[in-house]
Amino acid sequence: MNLHFITRRTLSKAVFAAAIAAMMMPSVLAAPQTVPVKPAAVVQQYADLAPAQEVVLNDITVYAFDESPLTLESSIFPDLSQYPDRMALMPKGQFHTITRTYLIQTGDRRVLVDGGWGTESGVDGRTVDYLAKYGVSADDVTDILLTHMDVDHISGLLHGGKAVYPNAVLHIAAKEYNRWIVQGADREAEYIVLARKVAKAYEGRIALFDYDEEILPGITARNANGHTMGHTCYDVTSGNKGLTIVGDMIHVAPIQMRHTEYCSVYDVDPALAAQTRERVLSELSRTDRLIAGMHFPQIGKVRKDKDGGYVVVSDTKP
Ligand SMILES: [Zn+2]
Repeated sequence: MNLHFITRRTLSKAVFAAAIAAMMMPSVLAAPQTVPVKPAAVVQQYADLAPAQEVVLNDITVYAFDESPLTLESSIFPDLSQYPDRMALMPKGQFHTITRTYLIQTGDRRVLVDGGWGTESGVDGRTVDYLAKYGVSADDVTDILLTHMDVDHISGLLHGGKAVYPNAVLHIAAKEYNRWIVQGADREAEYIVLARKVAKAYEGRIALFDYDEEILPGITARNANGHTMGHTCYDVTSGNKGLTIVGDMIHVAPIQMRHTEYCSVYDVDPALAAQTRERVLSELSRTDRLIAGMHFPQIGKVRKDKDGGYVVVSDTKP
C-alpha cells in the first residue's frame, strides 16, 4: 500500500482519517487525557539536570530538554579536508553537541517532540527525568510529534521494548511512515527494525498527517524532506509569536548554516536536504520566528550573515 498518494489535499479530513484508520489501525485511536496546564513545582530530585530552556509564546510554552550529549565525527562530511575553514569548526575531527527533545504545553495538551535516545539504545537519554523534573509523568504526555524516525529520535519512546508513553497519540508524517514502516527504505535494517518496534508498541494510537495543516492547537507540520524522505519541521505559533522546530535539518550548525548546500552522510537525499535547509532558513531569516533544533543548543532568530549563509542570533524574544 502506498500512503504517499493519500493526502489530506485529495481527501477530506474525515475520509482521510477513516482511510488511514482502516489501513493502519486495528483499534480505535485513544482519546488523549486531559491534564492540568500548569506544571507542578520543579522536582528537586532532578536538580542535577541542566534547567530546560523555556520559551513563552503567548498561550503556548515550549521547554527544550538537553536529553543527552552527542559527539559528531568529522567523517560525517567525507570531503571536509578540502575545506580548511570548515575543518577548523570541528577541532580534533569532532563536534560536541547535544540531542534535544521538547515539551510543548498548548491548551490542555502536553506534547513531546521526538523521543530522544532514552535508554533503549544504550544511551543515558533523560527525557523522562526532565519531564518528571517539571512535574509531568510519562502518563501525562498526550501527544508525541516525530520530526523523523532515526534512532536518536525514537528509541526513547521504548523501554524494554514497551511504550514509555502509554496514553500519547504518536503523530508521524504519512510520508515518513510509508518509507520506514511500509517500505522499509532509506536506512540500514537494524534501524528499520527499531522503527517498526515503535510502530508496534504504539499501534492503535498512531495518527498520520500530511503537511501544512494544524495538527494540534497552534502546531503546524511543515515539509522539510531531504534528511529523511518524510522529515518534518513544526511551526509552533500563538498570536504574534512563533518558534519553528527544525528537527535534523542541521547537524553542525556553524558549518551548515554558513554553507546550506553542505550535507552530512546522514541526509538521505542530499540535493533535497540542501534545498530544504536554504528554503527554511531563508524564510525564517525574514521573520521574527525563533528557530530550535534537535542537535544545536541555540534558540534564537535566524539572520543573514554578512559573509554569506545564516546565523542564529541569541534574541529569544519572538
Ligand atoms: Zn538526529
